[in-house]
Amino acid sequence: MTDLHRLSIRELSEGLKQAQFSSRELTEHYLKRIAKIDAKVKSYVTVTAEQALVEADAADAAIKSGNAHALAGIPLAHKDIFCTQGIKTTAGSKMLDNFISPYDATVVAKAKAAGLVTLGKVNMDEFAMGSTSESSYFGATGNPWALDHVPGGSSGGSAAAVAADLAPIATGTDTGGSIRQPASFCGLTGLKPTYGRVSRFGMIAYASSLDQGGPMARSAEDCAYLMNVIAGHDAKDSTSVDKEVDDYVANLNGTAVKGLRIGIPKQYFNVAGLDADVKTRVEESLKKLEEMGATLVEIDLNMTEAYVPTYYLIAPAEASSNLSRYDGVRYGYRCENPKDILDLYKRSRSEGFGAEVQRRILIGTYALSAGYYDAYYVKAQKVRRLIQQDFLKAFENVDVIAAPSAPTTAYKIGANLSPTEMYLGDIYTLAVNLAGLPAINAPVGFDKDSLPVGLQLIGNYWSESQLLSIVHQYQQNTDWHTKRAAIAEENA
Ligand code: GLN
Repeated sequence: MTDLHRLSIRELSEGLKQAQFSSRELTEHYLKRIAKIDAKVKSYVTVTAEQALVEADAADAAIKSGNAHALAGIPLAHKDIFCTQGIKTTAGSKMLDNFISPYDATVVAKAKAAGLVTLGKVNMDEFAMGSTSESSYFGATGNPWALDHVPGGSSGGSAAAVAADLAPIATGTDTGGSIRQPASFCGLTGLKPTYGRVSRFGMIAYASSLDQGGPMARSAEDCAYLMNVIAGHDAKDSTSVDKEVDDYVANLNGTAVKGLRIGIPKQYFNVAGLDADVKTRVEESLKKLEEMGATLVEIDLNMTEAYVPTYYLIAPAEASSNLSRYDGVRYGYRCENPKDILDLYKRSRSEGFGAEVQRRILIGTYALSAGYYDAYYVKAQKVRRLIQQDFLKAFENVDVIAAPSAPTTAYKIGANLSPTEMYLGDIYTLAVNLAGLPAINAPVGFDKDSLPVGLQLIGNYWSESQLLSIVHQYQQNTDWHTKRAAIAEENA
């Protein structure tokens, strides 16, 4: 079969079970595509071909025996922020080039236990700091819709790999938008779960109170399948929540939209820098949801202007603390011929970290330093609480809140935005992480340059099933999620 990469996760699962094809054939099919097409996209940092085939054979044996997990034998790509035993985990940094983790992240372990086949590790902004994936030590990744554009970030490799059909599904992480924004830029569905729903164990830390892993795929249904594997409490992550996990696939239904109250924040649609095509496409998608039975309710989110400054204090503060462990001593990059211990620290960190990471370590260290702690960090924490309260108040009157995922479509590679310009592009995604809420991106059309536009739906705590169901129903009534970039149509 030459078109295995066009099948949904449900179709792959059924095809494997009915022995229409084997996991080995499916895995070889993807490896062949990666070998041919990824030279242009550059989504993978590491391809684990040999190991993937071993895993595929094991999955085939499990499927034959009749007691395999529904996803056994289906390939996936992991963002290179998830630790993988025996395989390099770089977090897109020179600091961790050559780092081989002695253990698997819980997300990786769960995927393995279900029999999913790891194709490899995909590119990302260095330590997940960025919105373009260009800050990776391994170079930029192309957007499958226009290779001279970025796929978004930080989970840009995950998005590009799925959008070019170089993996049927991928894991991503979202600290301030890194699942939703690349999903939006690449025309995919991506879910950022409630903080605490997916284990952070073995996920290299950027900002621990904001980081959350989740699925990136072509459809809400595909995301639901991967959520069923990765969600759940983990004793190894004290912030993971011990709460029953939904069956996200079984919960998908055709009744999520009728009677749904969708909040439209006044402040969101008047943001300077909101692209006209993005605005139109998002409004059209809301109109469609209205036709399907939803009610649109105008709401106020008064803290909107505080999102960017609050996030860009708290995230760097936590990053400066998390990244202090990279000292050139125990693991990671070490400079050549250090004069003394101070020189070792200084040069290892200056040479091992890229410019954006250094900028954030400096901002975060400053904000946490004696004398400035109250004025910046403590104040930002108080504003964070107000942002959360703003959402909780809104959810008294609406079920979900709609927004664009990003004010623009994908930037050109090398556009060289100033840090402030880049940070402002995160306006629609940051608050969700500050409040710990779940949110999803769904593709809703294209701009005048044929680049994908995404709609974001923000839900109340633990509403992942509801968000997936709404998008699933939208996707059953529209075909944006079935559109494929020309490069995905190429055969290997
Ligand atoms: N773009 C945001 C940042 O640079 C979010 C990144 C993320 O979610 N990891 O911090």
